[in-house]
Amino acid sequence: MNNEWSAAARDTRLREHLAYAYARAPAVRALLDEAALDPKTMRGLADLAALPVTSKDDLLRRQAEDPPFGGFCAVPVEDVGRVYVSPGPIYEPAGVWENADWMQDILAANGVPRRGRALISFSYHLVPAGLGLDDMLRRYGLAVVPAGIGNTDVQAQVLCDLGVEVFCGTPSFLVTLMERAEAKGYRWGQELRLRYAIIGAEAFTTALKTEMARRDLAVVQTYGTADVGLLGASCPAGDGFHLSDQAVVEIVDPDNGQPLDPGEIGEVVVTPFSPTYPLVRFGTGDLAALQAEPCPCGLASPVLSRLAGRVGEAVKVRGMFLHPIQVDAALDAIDGIGRYQVSVRRAGLRDELVVQVEIAGDNGEDGLPELVEKRAREIWRVRPDRVETVSSGTLPEGGKVLVDERPWDG
Ligand SMILES: [Zn+2]
Repeated sequence: MNNEWSAAARDTRLREHLAYAYARAPAVRALLDEAALDPKTMRGLADLAALPVTSKDDLLRRQAEDPPFGGFCAVPVEDVGRVYVSPGPIYEPAGVWENADWMQDILAANGVPRRGRALISFSYHLVPAGLGLDDMLRRYGLAVVPAGIGNTDVQAQVLCDLGVEVFCGTPSFLVTLMERAEAKGYRWGQELRLRYAIIGAEAFTTALKTEMARRDLAVVQTYGTADVGLLGASCPAGDGFHLSDQAVVEIVDPDNGQPLDPGEIGEVVVTPFSPTYPLVRFGTGDLAALQAEPCPCGLASPVLSRLAGRVGEAVKVRGMFLHPIQVDAALDAIDGIGRYQVSVRRAGLRDELVVQVEIAGDNGEDGLPELVEKRAREIWRVRPDRVETVSSGTLPEGGKVLVDERPWDG
């Protein structure tokens, strides 16, 4: 297992994959030729950064110019089996989402039974999530109800009639479904036997987490995109996503596409080892970091941190990205503060990070600035210069939590 993740093994696999894609996908050939990169003689991961990042917009444009797959499909369209359609419209040949057997070890680590009943409420039409996960869960050993989206009453009844143990879908729909089943009089431990939730495609908020914990569900969070498939899933030990071995996942500086060190937040850029749809350095637009330390759960795969937001919303402060989600993560749960706002200003040549918090509790500001600073240093990669306390009602209601006040002209 460890060998597979060694630098040498990954380099070899990348070279072989790119040589395959170069021979079959005209867009991959063009990208490598432009960078004067020969897949047979390239070093491997170290040379990948010579290739440009292809954004979703780039892909949409390439597909319009060279339909249906923009020159990225490595097999004739008649051989792909299925063609998925994502909003855009943007087309994806099958074979990326279906390639998710790496997730079986992670499901086992989460205690998901090899024999059991699952209900999938991701969409089964147009987009790849429903069918892709359906294939994987059936191979894992589960009997699957292909429920798709909607029909909440029917799904609630099916959940109970069949004694479904594993739910797969969005966390918000799961809460709706459980509440509907409870309202119909179904009882936990009797008809309601749900124990595991494989969730994705939306934020897993504190409120949703509370609903899952209240019903004692074990949650497996997944991360993926329509274009490059399922990329990671969470284990019981950590908060991030163990990565798929079916792709190279890089974290890069969104400004120049260059790889960043573990722990640094940047854009998630993916090169899937797909024999049908070998996109190269696809830019997801998501921000995250690779964890520097191996996961205590013992799985060998590297771990991607929880997502820190989207590229366009982040602000670069002293060379490090800060995102509104990180601001909330640090400040939201602190007792005794009301609204808060973080501003990036310019002091001479230097970026200055100022945190303003409203005092909401009766305890005044005793120790509050120190606590705010401590939380910020734990969660952000950049430390605040100042924490200012202001009285309740000073900061605008519904205002941005992160503002960039630096003048554009320096
Ligand atoms: Zn783990």
